Amino acid sequence: MTYDTNNIFAKILRGEVSCERVYEDDHVLAIKDINPKAPIHVLALPKGPYTSLMDFSIRATADEIGLFFQTVTKVAELLKLHDNGFRLVSNTGSDSGQVVPHFHVHLLGGKQIGSMAEG
Ligand code: 5GP
Repeated sequence: MTYDTNNIFAKILRGEVSCERVYEDDHVLAIKDINPKAPIHVLALPKGPYTSLMDFSIRATADEIGLFFQTVTKVAELLKLHDNGFRLVSNTGSDSGQVVPHFHVHLLGGKQIGSMAEG
């Protein structure tokens, strides 16, 4: 899939759309989800133009991938999710219901969030 430079996260990364930032560095932005599904619902996205987890795993370097997931756990610590735990979700493609075609992961926590989605 070609990267759509007009997706909402691309606009947020360019500063064209506002967001509630919880963390940012040169490579990663973490923001509160606009429609939270848990008391803490944060989205972490690499700043590079990757459409999905599949695209990220194929085109990013091993260093980029490692740094991204290290940063995600740093964000979990910042959000104080490390003691009670949290769920990490990445919707990938149409069957998953991925809406925004810029790779991101959801960090969900702040309460017992129940079982995984049913089939
Ligand atoms: P997906 O289904 O693609 O994994 O999830 C996209 C997520 O982005 C959804 O949970 C949705 O609520 C969130 N989202 C969509 N538009 C915006 C926005 O403009 N700002 C923020 N902060 N989150 C958004």
